[in-house]
Amino acid sequence: MRVTALAGGVGGARFLRGLLAALRADPDPARRDAEVTVVVNTADDVTLHGLRISPDLDSVMYTLGGGIDEVRGWGRGEESYGVAGELARYGRTPTWFTLGDKDIATHLVRTQALAEGRTLSEATAELCRRWRPGARLLPMTDDVVETHVDLAVVPEGERAAHDGEAGGRRVHFQEWWVRLHAAVPALAIEAVGAARARPAPGVLEALRGADVVVLPPSNPVVSIGSVLAVPGVREALRATAAPVVGVSPVIGGAPVRGMADACLAAIGVPTTAAAVAGLYADFLDGWLIAEGDEEPEPGPRPLAVRRRPLLMSDPAATAALAGAVLDLAADLAAELGAGRGGAA
Ligand code: GDP
Ligand code: CA
Repeated sequence: MRVTALAGGVGGARFLRGLLAALRADPDPARRDAEVTVVVNTADDVTLHGLRISPDLDSVMYTLGGGIDEVRGWGRGEESYGVAGELARYGRTPTWFTLGDKDIATHLVRTQALAEGRTLSEATAELCRRWRPGARLLPMTDDVVETHVDLAVVPEGERAAHDGEAGGRRVHFQEWWVRLHAAVPALAIEAVGAARARPAPGVLEALRGADVVVLPPSNPVVSIGSVLAVPGVREALRATAAPVVGVSPVIGGAPVRGMADACLAAIGVPTTAAAVAGLYADFLDGWLIAEGDEEPEPGPRPLAVRRRPLLMSDPAATAALAGAVLDLAADLAAELGAGRGGAA
């Protein structure tokens, strides 16, 4: 069985760890030996202090490879910050982006590979030879795509509360997210470069050739939305014979962790499980929502909705959630198969 997932950083990584646990523990050999490919968002990528940083690729790689800081959910465990301290003493900015010493080694390997003319896919493969994440990690593209955010003007009296930010300018997503905690409203969010980006080698094949396509509960705007903005990805999702099944990142009108509501507000979409499904309505076949949440309105294609506990509170709960995704996908595949058999 071939399973292909799209993913952002922390939410995607947590879910994928549960997915791999659910697959590897399954008595069915097809699931147990499933090949998993993850198409990871790279629009959060940023160059700081000359280092090319791919936060979502690293979150997935460290989480699946056992190197993550379990408490924060990002960055390396047992980390130190000697290099960041030295950079600050040189007066180098920004200081708001956390760069741990161990993490910097990853960025050095990536940056050097790119400087030598290798692609981000190749750099990722090199990094994964160490981490052995148990899944094939593909950047969504080898081209440079960066999410930029148009900040609203911050009234004079409120600037002190926002790190002195006056707003009214365009910043890199990371500056909005990390420095400003997405508390300054975004007027627009754009994945710059996405329209001309080419999917990385293997991305479209992994979507077209999958038996199951999974959307973890990643940020629908700046994680999944950025992957979908790469030309060809959405079309491949619409065309794939595999059921596409997702998990809502919104429970009871709120993103469980983080500030995804600020991203949804910027694109004029309500923070509800139903509205997020609407963003995927042209290719989504199955959708898991929380007990109290409303089902999406009927869209352009049939959508099977199930209610399950959606909190990834611990590895067992996360594996159970992933198992529910696989079960829904299997039911949908059986229905599709029966439908085709009937038509023949
Ligand atoms: P990021 O790139 O690090 O922001 O991570 P992702 O985009 O992959 O995932 C972030 C999203 O995960 C957030 O917007 C939350 O809505 C969602 N999320 C976090 N924890 C949970 C959880 O326990 N359950 C569900 N359903 N969603 C979650
Ligand atoms: Ca991210």
